[in-house]
Amino acid sequence: STRLASFWQAYRRRRALVTLPKRPIEVRSDEIVPSTVGLIGNTPLLRIASLSDALGVDVLGKCEFLNPGGSVKDRVALRVIEDAEAHGYLRPHTGSVLFEGTVGSTGISLATVGKAKGYEAHIIMPDDVAVDKVLVLERLGATVERVRPASIIDENQFVNAARRRAHEFGNVDLLSDRAELVSTQATESEAHGNASAARASLDAKPRGFFADQFENESNFLAHYEGTGPEIVRQTGGHYDAFVSGAGTGGTISGTGRALKEANPECRVVLADPEGSGLFNRVKYGVMFAPQESEGTKRRHQVDTIVEGIGINRVTRNFEAGERIIDDAYRISDAEAVAMSRYLVQHDGLFLGSSSACNLVACVRLAKRLPKGSRIVTILCDSGARHQSKFWSDEYLTKHGIEVDVGIVDRLIAG
Ligand code: PMP
Repeated sequence: STRLASFWQAYRRRRALVTLPKRPIEVRSDEIVPSTVGLIGNTPLLRIASLSDALGVDVLGKCEFLNPGGSVKDRVALRVIEDAEAHGYLRPHTGSVLFEGTVGSTGISLATVGKAKGYEAHIIMPDDVAVDKVLVLERLGATVERVRPASIIDENQFVNAARRRAHEFGNVDLLSDRAELVSTQATESEAHGNASAARASLDAKPRGFFADQFENESNFLAHYEGTGPEIVRQTGGHYDAFVSGAGTGGTISGTGRALKEANPECRVVLADPEGSGLFNRVKYGVMFAPQESEGTKRRHQVDTIVEGIGINRVTRNFEAGERIIDDAYRISDAEAVAMSRYLVQHDGLFLGSSSACNLVACVRLAKRLPKGSRIVTILCDSGARHQSKFWSDEYLTKHGIEVDVGIVDRLIAG
């Protein structure tokens, strides 16, 4: 961990030397958008009528499912790629490949933004993730590898496998130093007499880049400089709380910090699914507590219903904003499932599992806030990504999860 800390110091020093492109924050307009990546971000903020009317508290959802790759992760993919380009790690249209370990959304976003910007994607996922996401990745021309779900200390765990694949491809991730790479490879060619030609050919060579969403701070920055400021502008700074789950932690840390800095009264609340260790980390400062049963832990790791959020380790992107998280709610699978069905019935809103989790936490929180308060949350992706598991009543029944929309009415009645 000291090695990692000193790496980040060096990385920040290098980053400080590069002027990153600043995208202006604009509302979506009637203008013609010049490329697919121009569709990323600037998503609308939706007042969820059913919940807001019933609670007397405005619940506002940031419509991230409207991004071109279908989720909040488009912002991260774009920022990761642009930062890597700015640092010289990636060059478009050179056959370079983005490698990532992901439960799906980030892979789909990397494949989408990659194609738009001239990169291939090689995605490694646990093999219990909803097959819908695999199909989308294949349609997007990504190489998909599925590995057995495993602990982060296992070398075949999906994130570790992606890091290894990037190295095998023969090039950099953020933990390598490009300057060193250039000089060693150029020296070999200098022996043959032509240093500048060697450098030029090196620059045109395909690179492998490990996107590293869990530890790469470009993820945090996409939200700290994008999602967060957009919400501040859309609300005029008037909000009382922000609710989000955490997978990598980029969303809650980056958006939460931006919202708290603009309005220090804002409470930042984590929505954590069963089986995740972050709830205890936020509430008690420790990852695991005795009440965490082996059953929930095992099921979460091997056969998750809620996908994309909940994790049993502290990532750099979670740490980046951890101190501003005020509270946490633990959300059951049955509650998330009920919320998803409730929103279709009342609002015509077809959402994925992490969005549903967020909204259950919004309802719980709303019960404790004065009437007229305003809660902001993230609608991460649509239900279309979750047909075969979260949205399949048959699958849920088989796994002992009841589908009972009445759960939401009871939560609201409190
Ligand atoms: N929802 C979905 C559908 C996701 O895929 C993810 C990311 N894994 C999240 C929410 C969580 O976002 P973050 O990684 O920023 O914590």
